[in-house]
Amino acid sequence: MIIVMGPNATKENIEGVQAKLEREGLRFHLSKGEDRTIVGVIGDKKKIANLEMNMMEGVEKTVRITEKYKLVSRDFHPADSVIDAGGVKIGGDRLVIMAGPCSVESLEQLREAARCVKEGGAQFLRGGAFKPRTSPYDFQGLGDEGLKMLRTVADEFGLKVITEVVDHDDIDLVGAYADVFQVGARNMQNFQMLKALGKARKPVLLKRGLSATISEWLNAAEYIMAGGNENVILCERGIRTYETFTRNTLDLSAVAAVKELSHLPVIVDPSHGTGRWQMVRPMARAAVAAGADGLIIEVHPHPEVALSDGDQSLKPKNFEAVMHEISQIANIMGKTL
Ligand code: PEP
Ligand code: MN
Repeated sequence: MIIVMGPNATKENIEGVQAKLEREGLRFHLSKGEDRTIVGVIGDKKKIANLEMNMMEGVEKTVRITEKYKLVSRDFHPADSVIDAGGVKIGGDRLVIMAGPCSVESLEQLREAARCVKEGGAQFLRGGAFKPRTSPYDFQGLGDEGLKMLRTVADEFGLKVITEVVDHDDIDLVGAYADVFQVGARNMQNFQMLKALGKARKPVLLKRGLSATISEWLNAAEYIMAGGNENVILCERGIRTYETFTRNTLDLSAVAAVKELSHLPVIVDPSHGTGRWQMVRPMARAAVAAGADGLIIEVHPHPEVALSDGDQSLKPKNFEAVMHEISQIANIMGKTL
């Protein structure tokens, strides 16, 4: 349920509502807009069903929420959320770009990638140190060593770090090096890990699962927020369909859907979304035009020898071209890089 306070509601009226919710053993979430405050109610379903708030002073109306996710929902928080990731703002009128190799392979590789990422105007260096590979015989990542390399190189170039965490037990370790935790598509419904990330303070980029509906994806985000970490960024990275030409089908309509349903920032991954470097540039442009708050793009100095995802990695020259194009589209969308 959400309780919409009238435009003339006083601080005492709002405190009265909060006190009643506390007496009922319910939790609440306040969202202060320009002329109205919204009190989102969370807790036992039966208690909420029996709650009578319309007669309380200052209350304009109450609205029952049918969706299971609450904190994620735009009903609870009408304004777009802007997330602070180590000083870089994600959401609102900013366009955030995260770029770098699929996997951290060596200091040299990472430095070459980081130089191009920085020169192109991105704010984040991406790179996997723990890789969730489909085959156990494929490169699994450099682990701790990879994390150290990422931090070192990102600091050299004045970039922030985003990297994937694949195991609940690695959260503290990854958190010591990363500015943003990445939860990969394969772990979108790893509920134990989502709960643990709810206790972490750093932002979490939650990728959409391989075959996840929008509702399942938003419910996964709710797990993190319900745990206490409200800094969640959604990432559309393509879903599995019957199409085989592309690795996945990039669902750009999910950007518009999520913008309607949620206040959380949403970024798009055209690399995993298509699996083909040739398609990354047009899909990056389309994503920004669709209203995405940013992009995560795989860039490799030498994609032909990449240890993972070379087919979808941009060479530095192409990355530079994408950045040039999207900065112009961002202007039209009222966003700045
Ligand atoms: C990645 O970002 O390299 C990755 C493994 O992504 P996803 O979880 O979307 O497959
Ligand atoms: Mn990859």
